[in-house]
Amino acid sequence: MIIKDNLDKIKNKIANCAEKAGRKADEIQLIAVSKLHSSESIMEAYEAGQRIFGENRIQELGKKFKVLPDDIKWNMIGHLQSNKASKAVKCSSLIHSVDSEKILRKINNNAFKKGKTQRILLELNISGEESKYGISENEALLLAEKSTEFKNINLIGLMTMAPFGAEEKKAREIFATLRSVQNNIEEKFQIKIPELSMGMSSDFEAAIMEGSTMVRIGTAIFGNRNYD
Ligand SMILES: *Cc1c(COP(=O)(O)O)cnc(C)c1O
Repeated sequence: MIIKDNLDKIKNKIANCAEKAGRKADEIQLIAVSKLHSSESIMEAYEAGQRIFGENRIQELGKKFKVLPDDIKWNMIGHLQSNKASKAVKCSSLIHSVDSEKILRKINNNAFKKGKTQRILLELNISGEESKYGISENEALLLAEKSTEFKNINLIGLMTMAPFGAEEKKAREIFATLRSVQNNIEEKFQIKIPELSMGMSSDFEAAIMEGSTMVRIGTAIFGNRNYD
């Protein structure tokens, strides 16, 4: 029952960190990132009560969606190509990685066809690393405004990643910047986008200190991933 133990440990850490930040633990959703892990591992987490899982490849998400329980809330956290929008809308409770008007439009069209309102986040690249997907603050302002025109889109927040191996101070700066972009968008367009998806195994505590409402944690729950 290693996965159950890991989940318990992470939940404790989230609760402790929330308290330290003067926040409530239930303001922070734990997304168990199950990419490259088996359905058996996912079921172990499921049996321990976990219902929200994150995947970064739409094909893998689609396969798991088919065979795993219906009450799992799948979160698409990886880059999404526009020709995969239909499947993403079919399978995802939340798409974290919207980064262009093109994909926004595709998601809206597919959601309309399915009679669904698709919850989304905009992915920002705050650190400016070339290796990362995501948009700038200015682009996010434009897309946030656009998204209010799309009837089958529900923009509920923003997502980002700190650079790999960043020191805590640097990570916190990045997360604080995402929160300031959130404030700017909310004030400018008089909308509420309450969710901040930030924090992974190595930096979720820094993210919680800066207001994260969704932490995306893989390795600390499921162990190392096998890339081959
Ligand atoms: C893989 C992944 C995670 C989880 O990373 P860990 O370091 O394993 O916790 C979080 N967010 C995104 C976007 C990912 O691709």
